[in-house]
Amino acid sequence: MLTFVTFAVKTQLNVHDLNNEAVAGNVNDIRIMEFVDEEGSRQEAPAVSGRMLKHWHLEGMRHLILNGGYSSIPLCAGCKIGEPIRPAVLSGEKLEQIKPNKLKEEEDFVKKCAICDIHGYLIAHEAKGESGEEVEGETKEEKKGKKQKGLNLRRTSRAMFSWLMPVLGTETAQKQVLHTRVSQQESITEGEGAAQMIFNKSYASGIYAFVAALDVDRIGLVELNLGSSRPYAVDNNSGRKERIKVAIEAYRMMLCGKIGASLSHALPHQNPVELLVAYSETGPLPFPVSPMYSNWLRKTIGLMPQGTQFLYWGAESIENVNKKNTLDEIFEELLNKV
Ligand SMILES: [Zn+2]
Repeated sequence: MLTFVTFAVKTQLNVHDLNNEAVAGNVNDIRIMEFVDEEGSRQEAPAVSGRMLKHWHLEGMRHLILNGGYSSIPLCAGCKIGEPIRPAVLSGEKLEQIKPNKLKEEEDFVKKCAICDIHGYLIAHEAKGESGEEVEGETKEEKKGKKQKGLNLRRTSRAMFSWLMPVLGTETAQKQVLHTRVSQQESITEGEGAAQMIFNKSYASGIYAFVAALDVDRIGLVELNLGSSRPYAVDNNSGRKERIKVAIEAYRMMLCGKIGASLSHALPHQNPVELLVAYSETGPLPFPVSPMYSNWLRKTIGLMPQGTQFLYWGAESIENVNKKNTLDEIFEELLNKV
C-alpha cells in the first residue's frame, strides 16, 4: 500500500489572479517574489505562496467530501465551513476552537475530522494557572515550565506544498486592469460618486512549476502516542483509505484549474504541461527537484531511492519511467494503490 507520494507539476496559467495576496484599499496588487536563476542572477516575477496552494488543496478536499462520493468522511465544524480555526465546534452561532486538556485528545481530533488529520492544526494552549486545567502524568518541572510559556498542541500537515514559481528562462506577464461593477440603477461614470464602484485588479500569466507531497503513511496516525507500535486513530477498515483517496483527488482538482480566489469571474486559463508522480510503498521519499529548473526530470529520478515508482505525463521519454497517455491514468493508478 501507498506510503508516500510526491508531485512535480509544470503548468501554464494565463490571466489568473491566484496571487492577489497584497490587497491595499481598492487596489488588489499582485505578489512579486525575488529569486535567482540557474546562473545565480537575481530575478523577480509574480509568484503564488505555498500557503495559498495548501489552502486550495484543503478547499478541494472539503468540496469533494461535502459534494462528491466521500460523504462518509467526517469533518469538524470549522473545516465543514472552510474556516481556518481548527479543530472547532459550534457553540451557539459562534465557532470556537477546541481547547484540549489532555494530550490524548489528538486521537479524538483525528477521528472526528479528516482535514484536521491531513492538514494539521495549531492550538495555542492557555498557560497553566489561567485555565486551571490539569494534564495527566506531567512532572513538577513540566508544570513549572508550562506556567511560564503554556503548551502548544500542534499536528503537522501531511500535505506539503512549495510556492508556485515561474519556470526559469520563460517570460511572465502581468497587467493591472480597471473593473467597474455594473449597476442598473444609474449610469456609473468616473468622478461622480462612483469611486467605490471602480477598482483595480492585477492578473498574471506564465508557465509555472510547483512541487507537493502527501505523507500517506502518517494519515490517521496519532503522533503523540507514537512508540514501538503504530497508533492509528483511523485505520484501513474505518475510513482511512477514503481519506487518502480524497486527499489524492484534491491534487487533481488543483491541476485542473480549481485554484484561485476569483473562480466566478477569473478562472485561470490552465494548460498542464508535465506531471511527474513518484510514489513509494515502503517509506518516505525526498521531495522532487522543481520543474522550474532545466534538468529537473532526470535529476528527480536520480535522487529517488531504489524501488520508487514513477508515473509521468508530458513530452519527455525516459527509461524506468512509466509514461501515461492522460493525467487521469496517473490518478487512477495512484488510487488503485490505496
Ligand atoms: Zn477539522
